Amino acid sequence: MTARFDQGPWAAAGVQTVQPGVHRVPLPLPNDGLHAVNVYLLENLAEDNGIVMIDGGWAIPEARKALEEALAAIGRDLGDISHILVTHIHRDHYTNAVELRRLLGSRVYLGAGERPGLEMLDRLRSDEPAGSLETLRRGGAAELAEQIRAMDHGGYDPSVWEAPDQWLGAETLRFGDHELRVVPTPGHTKGHVVFLDEQRGLLFAGDHVLPHITPSIGFELTEADGRPLADYLDSLRLMTRYADTRLLPAHGPVTDSAHTRVAELLTHHDDRLAKSLTALGEDTLDAHAVARKLGWTRREVPFGDLNAFNQMLAVNETAAHLDVLVLRGRATVAFTGGVNQYTRVS
Ligand SMILES: [Zn+2]
Repeated sequence: MTARFDQGPWAAAGVQTVQPGVHRVPLPLPNDGLHAVNVYLLENLAEDNGIVMIDGGWAIPEARKALEEALAAIGRDLGDISHILVTHIHRDHYTNAVELRRLLGSRVYLGAGERPGLEMLDRLRSDEPAGSLETLRRGGAAELAEQIRAMDHGGYDPSVWEAPDQWLGAETLRFGDHELRVVPTPGHTKGHVVFLDEQRGLLFAGDHVLPHITPSIGFELTEADGRPLADYLDSLRLMTRYADTRLLPAHGPVTDSAHTRVAELLTHHDDRLAKSLTALGEDTLDAHAVARKLGWTRREVPFGDLNAFNQMLAVNETAAHLDVLVLRGRATVAFTGGVNQYTRVS
């Protein structure tokens, strides 16, 4: 899931053949903030001439229909999808993979770092974003947390949250004589992975590296512990250890260089870290207070003009930046009255 989505022609229904045997298919999503999620169809990889699909989409009938039409356009059908590799647990990527498996018997793969979250989801039986709400409370925005908790989250449907067939770590998957390197990239979620096709120079980046927007950090349905932004920045730098490739993102168009976008995202976060420190000034503030002093989206929209969901992402992103400032020794944090209070180190 991502925030502050900008719609573009890339989201229009259809098939884009990125190179022979590699197709980008945007699938529709039900909510207004997000317009589409790209899934990728890789032909002639699996031994049985099946299709390897990267990301599943959101389990809605419109997505199934769009996928069927895309497959028909390349002379294939749903039954050809033999493997579904999912970059992360968010609903717009995972749930349709589970639905397709039920229908087709495809094999579903997901990063091992998502396992505790998926198991906890099964115990909680709720799709309130409990982890993110907890971060919000610790960020001094209890009222906003309550407002979001009271919203309709669509109802919990256990059938779309079944476990994958295979948990993925840092490993290489082989389909016929073709290899895909699995690279764990925690940050956007704890268990996010990307798939690197080094033979063809392609990075299937999921929501780790997006061309037009900054991926949200640590939006978790269950526990939001740890230091998601520190992890995310490490995961961005990790990309530069591999040769540069084309970027095949889950939201947005295909671009020529993953490394160029990685550099831009690192610069963006440096800028936000500096702005967060400036906003802290000489005061002791919680993440909510700092978020209200910052501009949001590329248009620098005031915090008060964001809807409640985006305010949640903004407060949590601010908390993530403040936590990195603490890790870097630029600020201190004290947990008082259930809220993290940050002070700049002078
Ligand atoms: Zn997404």
